[in-house]
Amino acid sequence: MPRYSKEQIDDVAGLLFARVAPVMKVPAARLAVDTITAICQDFADLFAADNPPVCRWCTAPVEPSPTNCPKSALGQHTYLGGFDRTAFLRACGIEP
Ligand SMILES: [Zn+2]
Repeated sequence: MPRYSKEQIDDVAGLLFARVAPVMKVPAARLAVDTITAICQDFADLFAADNPPVCRWCTAPVEPSPTNCPKSALGQHTYLGGFDRTAFLRACGIEP
């Protein structure tokens, strides 16, 4: 079970959006935009690591070096779900 709830993630996105939106359109704020973008991406990485896609057959989380799925007829994991990094970044005001 993920550590972070949808409500917590939505709250973080809302807080970041409030700070991101005003500076995203100001060319002189490029350094701030780069920093804020990096912070939003760090949060996205944190939430993605907390809630990875899992195999629909055996519920194993996505792996860097996939093994055979013990419950799939084809022997391969089929990964679904997990944290939606793109939607989170958009909610923060960052176009991924
Ligand atoms: Zn599997």
